[in-house]
Amino acid sequence: MSDETNGVTADAAERFAIGISFGNSNSSIARISPEGKAEVIANEEGDRQIPSVLSYIEGEEYHGTQAKAQLVRNSKNTVAYFRDFLGKDFKSIDPTACHQSAHPQESGSTVAFSICDTTSEEPNTVTVSEITTRHLRRLKQSASDFLGKPVNAAVITVPTSFTDAQREALIASAKEAGIEVLQLIHEPVAAVLAYDARPEVVITDKLVVVADLGGTRSDVAVIASRGGMYTILATAHDYELGGANLDQIVIDHFAKEFIKKHKTDPRENPRGLAKLKLEGEATKKALSLSTNASISIESLADGIDFGSTINRTRYELLANKVFAQFTGLIEQVVKKAELDVLDIDEVILSGGTSHTPKIAQMLQNIFPETTKILAPATSSTAINPSDLAARGAAIQASLIQEFDKEDIEQSIHPMVTSTPHLRNAIGVQLVSTSDAEDSGAVFKPLLNTETALPARRTAQYEVPKEGGDVLIRVCEGIREVKVTKPEPKPKEEKPEKKEDEEDEDDNDFDSDEEEEEEEIREVIWKVSKPIAEFAIKDVKAGNKVEVMINVNADLGVQLTAREVGGKGGVRGAVEAPKAAENGSV
Ligand code: ATP
Ligand code: MG
Repeated sequence: MSDETNGVTADAAERFAIGISFGNSNSSIARISPEGKAEVIANEEGDRQIPSVLSYIEGEEYHGTQAKAQLVRNSKNTVAYFRDFLGKDFKSIDPTACHQSAHPQESGSTVAFSICDTTSEEPNTVTVSEITTRHLRRLKQSASDFLGKPVNAAVITVPTSFTDAQREALIASAKEAGIEVLQLIHEPVAAVLAYDARPEVVITDKLVVVADLGGTRSDVAVIASRGGMYTILATAHDYELGGANLDQIVIDHFAKEFIKKHKTDPRENPRGLAKLKLEGEATKKALSLSTNASISIESLADGIDFGSTINRTRYELLANKVFAQFTGLIEQVVKKAELDVLDIDEVILSGGTSHTPKIAQMLQNIFPETTKILAPATSSTAINPSDLAARGAAIQASLIQEFDKEDIEQSIHPMVTSTPHLRNAIGVQLVSTSDAEDSGAVFKPLLNTETALPARRTAQYEVPKEGGDVLIRVCEGIREVKVTKPEPKPKEEKPEKKEDEEDEDDNDFDSDEEEEEEEIREVIWKVSKPIAEFAIKDVKAGNKVEVMINVNADLGVQLTAREVGGKGGVRGAVEAPKAAENGSV
């Protein structure tokens, strides 16, 4: 904690900040534990994923799971799926998700709900900003109760698609709830932070895809992590694809079963549908952990109770098309970033739907073996996907809570928003001067594509074996994917072999999609004209040379090269235009 403060840090010293993830479906609160670990806090009901739902019965406010349960009996006074309405006008919102809860309405320039939130029978018009304030107040209260000290500040995560108006509305709603927003950070960046903050992690340069698969929407981002800086290279959103689509599959499946037996469709009465939705979602979640799950609903329709089971194989078969939509979105954003799946080092699966084993397994087939698919089904070290955003927000909150407002803005902006970055790699070719034809010159990237600028890297290289005069050529490298088609082989052997192997209980429907001939794909560097060349004379055989490259934000380049252990060295500088093109996001 701070010592005697002299006014400047007084505000900061009184802050007590947490991380908040705020979704349309669920929210979470997180803190840094005394041991320094980011952890999501359970509310008084024991929930770590707290449904973003408020419900009112005779003036009493219910929140989270209790409120969500009210979607069956008290749907009109239950407000759900409202986050994306913040800071928007009525005409630009999609109210579909609110069919079974309080309907959004136009109210001046904003969106509101008409609900009975007092003991009076007259409904009140409550704006989405006010609803958000109430929701955040409850989260703040839960965190304060758990931590035994009033929380008054937070880092909150938002989608990359949030507009300035949405951000401002959220900050204002939080303020009303007594929460100073230290910063809004992007959900996918929070997920990367949550992974990178683990003590055992060595931060390396990498390209990461964050697939945030939620309840009502899916958001995917490609992020370059270079020297600890994060740059968002591309994003894709699907506002109609989420866990709700999977719930619907389970609902329809059980509804059909019910109709077969009882000749009545439980989806036709609102209560039946609401019950099926709640229980169907629970069944779907159970299928992420076990290969069988049951459902049991009292008085589903016409007073008839319903009970049944479904196994994972069946579910995966029914949901296969929706799963492919998720993976398709992920492939699409990689293309949008002008990258290839081969370039991606990690895929972080975040959001509740990322618990679904089949989605992670399908991604494992789409990405090469070298790409880590960080999800519970495919990695034993994966962090709970539902916790990632809140944990990342808590980490960020602990980093900045003692900063002054200005410092927060200055220190954090470059990390989360756009920074200049290299479009092409810059690297080195070493040529022995006796090798007139350049035959052995291999390009070694030193500053990778998408490195945030300014940047400086140093590396040592073995000189060509006989030593002597060595030419160091610094050039740009353009990454290309080389595809080698296999030699057309006699066809007979193929089809039989694959099928009997990996025959788990769940893959009787996808084996046919694997039958294509495998082409070999590898990243190669196409080297452009040199940026600079240096000669170092008389390098001892077997020795190394050291090259240092510094690229300014304006793309000016400074270079130094020397023989390791030798005296002096060569220096050079190149003006901006000759270096790589400056891409910005
Ligand atoms: P939104 O996309 O609506 O903003 P969110 O970000 O608030 O959603 P998340 O908590 O990330 O929501 O995801 C909620 C979705 O995840 C729900 O559809 C829920 O059923 C699903 N989900 C949660 N846990 C699991 C699980 N174990 N297996 C499968 N799906 C799950
Ligand atoms: Mg989400």
